[in-house]
Amino acid sequence: MTKLRLAIVGAGPAGIYAADILLKAERNFEVSIDLFDHLPAPYGLVRYGVAPDHPRIKGIITALRGVLDSGDIRVFGNVRFGVDITLDDLKKHYNAVIFATGAVQDADLNIPGASLDGSYGAADFVSWFDGHPDVPRTWPLEAREIAVIGNGNVALDVSRMLIKHAEDLLPTEIPGNVYDGLAASPVTDVHVFGRRGPTSVKFTPLELREIGELKDVDMIVYDEDFDYDEAAKDAVASNKQVFVIDKTLNAWRTRETGTASRRLHLHFFAKPVEVVDDGTGRVAAFRWERTITDAAGGVVGTGEIREIPVQAVYRAVGYFGSELADVPFDKKRGVIPNREGQVLRRDPSAGTGGLFNQQMYGVYATGWIKRGPVGLIGHTKSDAMETIKHLINDLGNWWRPESPSEESIVALLSDRGVRYTGLDGWHNLDQHELALGEAAGRTRIKVVDRDEMVAVSRAEEPAPPLSSDRARARKRGPCSIMGPLP
Ligand SMILES: Cc1cc2nc3c(=O)[nH]c(=O)nc-3n(C[C@H](O)[C@H](O)[C@H](O)COP(=O)(O)OP(=O)(O)OC[C@H]3O[C@@H](n4cnc5c(N)ncnc54)[C@H](O)[C@@H]3O)c2cc1C
Repeated sequence: MTKLRLAIVGAGPAGIYAADILLKAERNFEVSIDLFDHLPAPYGLVRYGVAPDHPRIKGIITALRGVLDSGDIRVFGNVRFGVDITLDDLKKHYNAVIFATGAVQDADLNIPGASLDGSYGAADFVSWFDGHPDVPRTWPLEAREIAVIGNGNVALDVSRMLIKHAEDLLPTEIPGNVYDGLAASPVTDVHVFGRRGPTSVKFTPLELREIGELKDVDMIVYDEDFDYDEAAKDAVASNKQVFVIDKTLNAWRTRETGTASRRLHLHFFAKPVEVVDDGTGRVAAFRWERTITDAAGGVVGTGEIREIPVQAVYRAVGYFGSELADVPFDKKRGVIPNREGQVLRRDPSAGTGGLFNQQMYGVYATGWIKRGPVGLIGHTKSDAMETIKHLINDLGNWWRPESPSEESIVALLSDRGVRYTGLDGWHNLDQHELALGEAAGRTRIKVVDRDEMVAVSRAEEPAPPLSSDRARARKRGPCSIMGPLP
């Protein structure tokens, strides 16, 4: 019977769902799947993007873990495509590859001052508060007043993490260094800015409602933003999601304020114009232009410029995919060009400006790198179904590898000295993090240092007796807010 040796690069939800769907699909060939990720832990943005105070969504990890534990998939963590393995390597060892590498960079915001000191990309901040091993351990949280640019759920996550009192995050899995940083933050006011009106936001109703329930935080909305035109009124009447959002915002207009120590302001019809320099290269203020709705349903500037003093700006205007070595890349959209998951390369006869219209046999894409960084985790499942359908139908066009044995890729990684981590390694790390959490009276404490993650996973040495988090908890002693150690 024919056997498909498949490499999947990216162990986020898209990669894991693709493996699951293929294993369960009706097909007339056997399957052997190797799943690579450059992080020593799987689950992509579910572990390193979804906010720590959203345990229900983080819980999707249980289902993803079930797929990995099914016994049909080998995991190779701490293996970076383009560095540790290349497309040529994959061609030698597999019949096909699916790229599911997601999107982790911030999309650009092209306004003056966007790169000043104190102006941060939301993706970097998210990586920090979710304990991503490749970002610095400390985050400069010195600002009292902060602007967050964007009207999607990432802007809400960032605002919530900035304004929420740190002790309210303690029951979550936030790493110790993140708790320490947030606990010392002097923030009093976070201002969220969106170009459009309240009926055009991309927030989901649940996330919006949640932010209004934070302890000791006043919600501030401004009456001038609620003078709806006919289109906005229609949207409220005809769209349930808009109706709930409008209801939530309107309830905040009449809510008693003035007693909380922190405030979250929502500014609509506000187009970013400039991050203002204090003269030394640091953020001093945020400047925006008031907009109004135009006849086409978009917004146009009114020419009225406003300014507010802030010491930090967070740009939550979208994520962007990263280019992979030897794999076609659409630089405008930040995706791997594809037709329903079949990767497309440029017509070679048309030069560098040619269209992406030729199928690159054996190469597929799924998830955010296929479709762009929009949509929820569930959407990566339908993505994967479409991609897998083509992979199965393309059987006649798969690569014919010279070394398809399962041992050969292991030998290659070992020869190159790649300290890869397997599924057992993830179990080791998972247990270790749960034990750290239990010792501190919390559900889990994430290990943040990559070397420590790898060492614990590979059980290369006894798990370090004191991780940085444990050491921190021990120093504080039994009275510590992190709780006593056994
Ligand atoms: C801040 C934030 C909050 C979110 N909150 C929610 C939420 O509450 N609910 C919800 O449903 N959705 C949420 N989402 C959306 C959700 O995270 C995405 O829909 C989903 O993670 C996309 O899956 P993916 O597998 O395509 O990408 P990812 O999850 O990004 O996974 C990609 C994987 O590829 C790996 N990789 C990348 N490059 C390489 C390489 N060169 N070599 C090897 N491996 C590589 C990465 O390490 C990663 O593990 C959120 C997204 C963000 C950014």
